[in-house]
Amino acid sequence: TARPLAQIGVTGLAVMGRNLARNFARHGYRVAVHNRTEARTRALVDEFGGEGDFTATASLEEFTAALERPRRLVIMVKAGQPTDDVIDELVPLLDEGDVVVDGGNAHFLDTRRREQALRERGLHFVGSGVSGGEQGALEGPSIMPGGSEESYRVLGPLLEDIAAQVDGRPCCTHVGPDGAGHFVKMVHNGIEYADMQLIAEAYDLLRHAGGLQPPEIAAVFREWNGGRLESYLIGITADVLAHTDAATGRPFVDVVLDRAEQKGTGRWTVQTALELGVPVSGIAEAVFARSLSGHAELRKASAGLPGPTETWLDSAASDRFAEDVEQALYASKIVAYAQGFQQIQAGSDEYGWRIDPGAMATIWRGGCIIRARFLDRIRAAYEGDRERPSLLTDEHFLQALAGAQSAWRRVVSTAAQLGVPTPGFATALAYYDSLRARVLPAALIQGQRDFFGAHTYRRIDRDGSFHTRWEEPG
Ligand code: NAP
Repeated sequence: TARPLAQIGVTGLAVMGRNLARNFARHGYRVAVHNRTEARTRALVDEFGGEGDFTATASLEEFTAALERPRRLVIMVKAGQPTDDVIDELVPLLDEGDVVVDGGNAHFLDTRRREQALRERGLHFVGSGVSGGEQGALEGPSIMPGGSEESYRVLGPLLEDIAAQVDGRPCCTHVGPDGAGHFVKMVHNGIEYADMQLIAEAYDLLRHAGGLQPPEIAAVFREWNGGRLESYLIGITADVLAHTDAATGRPFVDVVLDRAEQKGTGRWTVQTALELGVPVSGIAEAVFARSLSGHAELRKASAGLPGPTETWLDSAASDRFAEDVEQALYASKIVAYAQGFQQIQAGSDEYGWRIDPGAMATIWRGGCIIRARFLDRIRAAYEGDRERPSLLTDEHFLQALAGAQSAWRRVVSTAAQLGVPTPGFATALAYYDSLRARVLPAALIQGQRDFFGAHTYRRIDRDGSFHTRWEEPG
């Protein structure tokens, strides 16, 4: 008897694709698998064939022939040109109504272009963010699919099945048309950069102002992880800080070169924010902090720049310091997430995606790197008012900021006095105070612009544009 056709296909069987295919199979789906280099396909079936019903295929022809219709197939190859190559090869083998998913880290503008090209050929193209790395792909990622409503009817139930589940709800929902899914994944990664930077600054302060050692700081983070900061990132931070290097017996953080790497989604987030005019200063500072860390020559040449004479907290102040840092971290984190959600709303407006921000917070509660208790609060804030201009105005966050702000100010000023760099904490506080300000110095900037460029200005008391005939200074 003929084998029943596969319900889902995965092509590209490196770590992510292999684990996604296994995840589908473990949930009882019949999975067709394919990889350019066939050895990987065979290795998957040899090693994990017992986990479910796999159909190994040796070519894209065999792969597409093995799938029931409308076909559902996931491309999980290297982002960029390889994704276009695979799409070009696949398209002639597909039929109207088939659903092609790109689960790689594509730029949302590439996804918009691909979606349009495939739509013109009667195919559905779904650019989907997949977060959670290798382990998430296997055990339940957070999935952010874009594309048409119709594609989601065909594909959504399968994705919701294999996604992480929190409180009985899947960490997967239809984000919006064309590039919406990859846009949201991009901002997710930007927020992840900001969150990691803030946590790193908290560590730096506890260590280089508070005088604590890595194992002690690990204990502080563990304690924080029992409270409102509870999150995957705080948990792994405690583990990393508690880790001892086997070769030297020194704290692991002390044997690692202090230059942070990046793959580019943080940079995309900031580039896009600049285009949209959204002030995501927390994400931008996090991206710049990573770049700065990599400028070895510049840092070496600057090592002799003068700093303050006072470099440690006195012991009286250090008693409550960890508590203050927790407050500053929570407040800064609220700001960073508020900025990221503002970018999602701006992208949604610009491209007509109608993204539900509360639903994004909901699907980030599990599976992904920024999963946290905190996201439930964000979900609730948007459930209360989907159009709210900023998360900061939600009652819960307002109260948290009210409670945290004096500690936050103490931490930022202590850092400045002692010369410990805290770009994330400081920019978050500056953003907060800028939003609060009744009057910003932008009026003076308008005056300068009108002076040198006749750019005109508007007045507070009359409508219209005005220009002053300035006298050149004598
Ligand atoms: P990867 O190293 O990004 O890509 C390797 C895979 O791409 C292999 O299957 C390779 O096939 C295939 N490939 C490369 N060029 C190709 C071409 N021109 N034609 C056909 N196939 C080609 O793999 P990955 O780390 O599993 O990531 C897959 C995708 O998921 C990427 O877009 C990545 O950005 C995204 N992603 C990764 C993570 C993560 O934690 N790693 C998390 C989320 C998203 P061969 O075996 O034949 O070389």
